[in-house]
Amino acid sequence: THTLAAVDPALWQAMQAEGRRQEEGIELIASENYASPAVLAAQGSVLTNKYAEGYPGKRYYGGCEFVDVAETLAIERVKKLFGAEYANVQPHSGSQANQAVYFAMLKPGDTILGMSLAAGGHLTHGASVNLSGKIFNAITYGLNDKEELDYDQVRALAKEHKPKMIVAGASAYSLKTDWNKFREIADEAGALLMVDMAHYAGLVAAGVYPSPVGIADFVTSTTHKTLRGPRGGVILAAAQHEKALNSTIFPGIQGGPLMHVIAAKAVAFLEAQQPAFKTYQQQVAVNARVMAETLTQRGLRIVSGRTESHVFLVDLRAKKVTGKDAEALLGRAHITVNKNAIPNDPEKPFVTSGVRIGSPAMTTRGFKDAEARQVANLVADALEAAGNESAISKVGAEVNTLCARFPVYGPAMRATFG
Ligand code: PLP
Repeated sequence: THTLAAVDPALWQAMQAEGRRQEEGIELIASENYASPAVLAAQGSVLTNKYAEGYPGKRYYGGCEFVDVAETLAIERVKKLFGAEYANVQPHSGSQANQAVYFAMLKPGDTILGMSLAAGGHLTHGASVNLSGKIFNAITYGLNDKEELDYDQVRALAKEHKPKMIVAGASAYSLKTDWNKFREIADEAGALLMVDMAHYAGLVAAGVYPSPVGIADFVTSTTHKTLRGPRGGVILAAAQHEKALNSTIFPGIQGGPLMHVIAAKAVAFLEAQQPAFKTYQQQVAVNARVMAETLTQRGLRIVSGRTESHVFLVDLRAKKVTGKDAEALLGRAHITVNKNAIPNDPEKPFVTSGVRIGSPAMTTRGFKDAEARQVANLVADALEAAGNESAISKVGAEVNTLCARFPVYGPAMRATFG
């Protein structure tokens, strides 16, 4: 009678349905993943009851001796994982991690130089609708005509505008980033360098994508994407920035830390140190490449030509489908993607000509090369079936059959949480 199912049947039903959706469909949203049962257990724990303003050993509340252990485990593990001198594991999200670095180092009106939203940057890198674009004078860079990061443009803009901080990292860029080149440009311009590795963090931890740690002054990340932890953020930096960053997170922009989430971050960082995590991330990169190659063979264009990570954008115009319609019709085939603008997109941002595809979630459930090829073919089949609902349903049935062979959590586990 105290179970969630008994206490709140309406919510329980929605959670069960969401659990089924995650099991029975193919998740291709590049920023999503399936957290492990251990991560879920830590997050759904009594640690949510505890106030712990401050930092381990220096709290504003009593009774923090055990949550101090949890936070210290998280800090020490993430420092070891990425080879960082300092870590703050309290940011509630990736956005708050970025905001903390800005507010620790910049003043309102200062100039920042980040990747434009249209080219694949994140809202928090200076978009006009985000606080980062309202409080700071945000200048943006993008891609060159080969759809590769335009370092020449970054250098020219840095020279011209003398930003206080350069922001590197992206939400929809498939290629490797030359962090050293950003460092060079930042040094020439006398700018600080922040790398937001939210999308790539898991690949970075496994040595599959270049690490910005030790190159950038500040490295921020989310913990829930390729890194496969709970929803949240983290900041890494040199030890000299500890005081400024800690006080900006608390009391600067946050109150009490989410100790249950920090505990779940500790679990995820431990999991990311295991050999199996490296194998997983290598397969993530292989699966993305196989999908991109297969879609190319099926007549679709991959933005930047290829992927060197977990993610890529597909230009849908060859199939005469918009991003909005593709997202909806793939959804009816139980394949989840998000629409995404492509460079120089002729469609409005709410419509777009592209979708973003990522391999982290499907790789967690065990898909390898053969399944990645099958997934890409199912995506192409569904796109070619636009306007033919029975053909779309047929793809959906194949998707369900494939997913049934690769359970994520399995029925016993799902009975406990959704
Ligand atoms: N930074 C990048 C590069 C991202 O892609 C995202 C999430 O989409 C964020 C930051 C923001 O993270 P959150 O959604 O946790 O605020």
